[in-house]
Amino acid sequence: MISNSSRAGFDFPVFEHGTVWLVGAGPGDPGLVTLLAQHALMNADIIVYDALVDERILGLAAATAELEYAGKRGGRPSPKQPDISLRLIEHARAGRRVLRLKGGDPFVFGRGGEEALALVAAGIRFRVVPGVTAGVGGLAYAGIPVTHRDTNQAVTFVTGHDMAGDLPGALDWNALARASPVIVFYMALGHLEEIVERLLAGGRRADEPVAIVSKATTPEQRVMVTSLGSVVDFCKSIEIPPPALVVVGQNVALRDRLDWLPHHPE
Ligand code: SAH
Repeated sequence: MISNSSRAGFDFPVFEHGTVWLVGAGPGDPGLVTLLAQHALMNADIIVYDALVDERILGLAAATAELEYAGKRGGRPSPKQPDISLRLIEHARAGRRVLRLKGGDPFVFGRGGEEALALVAAGIRFRVVPGVTAGVGGLAYAGIPVTHRDTNQAVTFVTGHDMAGDLPGALDWNALARASPVIVFYMALGHLEEIVERLLAGGRRADEPVAIVSKATTPEQRVMVTSLGSVVDFCKSIEIPPPALVVVGQNVALRDRLDWLPHHPE
């Protein structure tokens, strides 16, 4: 029996039947799961999870919890977003404690907002449990401070995809290139060539450091450092296992000194 009280002297909120918790699982390392997310995993009746959620994290679920996959796998088409929201609503209406588990943070490029809006429209009560987003936690595991006094007093998180899978057209790329010393791209590999073109056209230097962080915080994490002028050819020359982040900015150079993660022999 899992109690709602903790020895630390605080109470976890009660996971009520008929409610949905939108929970971030962090970027991969199970150690980055929050206590609230763990509490939710131990108490949920059903867990609707995405492709990015690490299997070891699903292992924290109660043995009785039902696991429902909501992402792409083995070439099968992924369920459409409204279908996922509808399923959450149905499970909640059936009186279950529904855990919607997403990689990273549910409100960072994870469509958590859309799902929350659908729950509001359906009159279903919900809670949001933030997670460590890949653009922050993944960078930390790569030895790259997301902000650093000497390199950047601002950072921008950008998605390389819009709803249609295109490069986000509404973005003012010139303004972005000028104003944001560090740009962290999610889902960037598909349109990398265009992204680089726009940043260079916006005045970024070709010798600016760029890091690609693949499978951050997992045992297969790989970090590759190149430059804005070379990154496109670099990415064509090797295979980069997804998911991956692309970081553009002088903070990347700090990795030379701050790469703290023990490296395993290949
Ligand atoms: N909600 C998630 C992001 C979902 S979008 C979050 O907050 O992290 C999916 C993109 O996130 C991927 O294409 C990749 O760019 C990034 N991503 C997620 N997990 C990652 C990981 N472990 N390593 C590198 N990139 C990751």
